[in-house]
Amino acid sequence: MNKKVRVRFAPSPTGGLHLGGVRTVLFNYLFAKQQGGDFIVRIEDTDQTRFVEGAEEYIFNTLKWCGLHPDESPLHGGPFAPYRQSERKASYRQFAEQLVEAGYAYYAFDTPDELDQMRFNHKTAENPSPQYNHALRVHMRNSLTLPAEEVKDLLAAGTPYVIRIKMPLNETVSFTDMIRGEVVFHTDQVDDKVLLKADGMPTYHLAVVVDDYAMKISHAFRGEEWLPSAPVHILLWKYLGWENEMPQWAHLPLILKPDGNGKLSKRDGDRLGFPVFAMDWTDPKTGEKTIGFKERGFLPQAFINLLALLGWNDGSDNEIFTLDELVNKFSMDRVHKGGAKFDFEKAKWYNHEWIKRLPAADLSSHVLAVLAEQDIVVNNEALLYKVIDLVKERCTLLPDFVQQASFFFKEPVHFDTDSLKPKWDDIKKLFFIELAMGLELSKEMAAADLEKEFKELAAAHQLKPGDLMLPFRIMLVGGKFGPGVFDIATTIGKEATAARIRHVLSLL
Ligand code: GLU
Repeated sequence: MNKKVRVRFAPSPTGGLHLGGVRTVLFNYLFAKQQGGDFIVRIEDTDQTRFVEGAEEYIFNTLKWCGLHPDESPLHGGPFAPYRQSERKASYRQFAEQLVEAGYAYYAFDTPDELDQMRFNHKTAENPSPQYNHALRVHMRNSLTLPAEEVKDLLAAGTPYVIRIKMPLNETVSFTDMIRGEVVFHTDQVDDKVLLKADGMPTYHLAVVVDDYAMKISHAFRGEEWLPSAPVHILLWKYLGWENEMPQWAHLPLILKPDGNGKLSKRDGDRLGFPVFAMDWTDPKTGEKTIGFKERGFLPQAFINLLALLGWNDGSDNEIFTLDELVNKFSMDRVHKGGAKFDFEKAKWYNHEWIKRLPAADLSSHVLAVLAEQDIVVNNEALLYKVIDLVKERCTLLPDFVQQASFFFKEPVHFDTDSLKPKWDDIKKLFFIELAMGLELSKEMAAADLEKEFKELAAAHQLKPGDLMLPFRIMLVGGKFGPGVFDIATTIGKEATAARIRHVLSLL
């Protein structure tokens, strides 16, 4: 019988969430929803030295913003609670002890100084950082090298120890990755990883296996950087007697720097001027702030869409997908093996496409938020929707709405009169005086009618309408931007249009 699909995202709360991390969430989520399964978030916080205040809350806020809601998590609860590994501490030791008894693991009593000494003594040009492995464990103080009596005494005396896996010699370990196919490892190349630390906490390696088993995880999708750990995990599944319950694995390709040269890091973002984190993150220790995609003005729909296409496609040229479409179309066997280059210009293209596609009603809360940051208050919803529809084609990131839309709600403060002065003359001035007067005396009109009147008035002054457009635009919006001038004028209304014309005339 097929197991119920249960996948997990298992972040360590150590800082802001990199876009690669969110893509891991997304692929887990898409797979789970497509298969009618459960999406679990488990917080892997066993490394207390790396714990960062606020990081867990940040992770859940990010998932919320992205619309990727967990079925089970420390926040949402569930039948396998607790979902925070630090709260499951008591459940791991028995398995580490069981492994020692069966001869698959051993106690190691080496002090930090002894470990340093070992690294120093065995360092060679070919092996600059020697590891605790099958070759070196015979030189160390552990339950493999010490007499049984001494081990017993050390334990009884409360001597600090860790439990390490005993990697077998000359074996191969293999598994079938859903993306990479058959992957083979040689056990000689893997060190004797610590499973249980001196403070009684498990390491990631033990905890991830124990919890994936306990939580009945059917598929484990994680970043490619975890591939080297897979042989340790496979052996643990086997040694603990759970081999038949082992999840199917997929190791997702890395997200690469724009030039393809290595993994994309937060520092690349800082250097090249684009976000790498999902949302703003402030490091509580250094106070350093890192801008996120959300605050840079990305829509969650666009962010999800662009992440899905980093390493996956549906086999067609289609690049725009809603979350529901992704749930339908996603398949692990169309995920590429190779890394996916991140291209910020392409990321912006997705956002622009989404801004164009979404109806004004769906964009309005985002637009209100960016306008509110500039102290622009909007209390006419119909006007807001109209403005959004008029300008959204011109907006790539949400803050672009500030330039493209604020002048509909608030008179501009700065007018680029310098761009007007070189070609300004008395005939043009007269034209605009008459235009303002005409507007004040007329009724409100449609954009096409205003355009007609404008052209007739220009003809009467023997002026080319084309020479009057830029001055008119600068009078209405302050600079060389915005949608069609007649649309702007009729949207702000004749009174405001006339007032802005008169104001700029007074400046010239
Ligand atoms: N805690 C690991 C991380 O921080 C999880 C890796 C896995 O999914 O096995 O990414």
